Amino acid sequence: MILMLGPPGAGKSVQGGLLAAELGYVSISTGVLLRAAADDELHERMLRGELISDETVQELVKKEILKLHPPGSLILDGFPRTPEQAKWLVSWAKDNDVCIECLLHITNELDVCLERLTSRGRHDDKPEVVRERYEMYRDVAGPIIEIMVDAGIPVLTVDGSQSIELVRSLVFAQIDQRRKC
Ligand code: AMP
Repeated sequence: MILMLGPPGAGKSVQGGLLAAELGYVSISTGVLLRAAADDELHERMLRGELISDETVQELVKKEILKLHPPGSLILDGFPRTPEQAKWLVSWAKDNDVCIECLLHITNELDVCLERLTSRGRHDDKPEVVRERYEMYRDVAGPIIEIMVDAGIPVLTVDGSQSIELVRSLVFAQIDQRRKC
């Protein structure tokens, strides 16, 4: 299982999709799963750029990982999003014999994210909500990376402001040496 971390608009879903195709994995986005859930209150929270509770998202993630054969053959886009989720995932993966191969961190400046997302037009892509989501990412990225490093999980950081093709080639060039299992 490969984890993806990055601000909104960094290119996580595009790069996650490309990497999944390359590795024969499935790319799973917690944002997409949550948007598909029949729960108005949850959707309201998402529109305001607020996070959904750790327990709710952890349950979803657990189910998705166990559905696959082998259970870890996925790219997880948008999870973990809090240090608590990161700790939970490290411990759950260990207990269930699922390998966390690496954390792929795609970085980007707020200005580039704002520019990209305004043209995407999703309902939670309003500039003030993007700023909120960006700040949330900035607060948790360091602690999440620290938890992964402490758990011996390799972290690969790539500058997402470059073209899709360039980011893709940087990721592909480095991912094999950086995967733990
Ligand atoms: P995304 O599609 O990754 O930008 O996620 C869209 C929204 O879904 C986020 O702004 C959150 O409201 C919610 N969400 C996605 N992943 C998580 C997560 N791991 N924990 C909590 N909320 C999440």
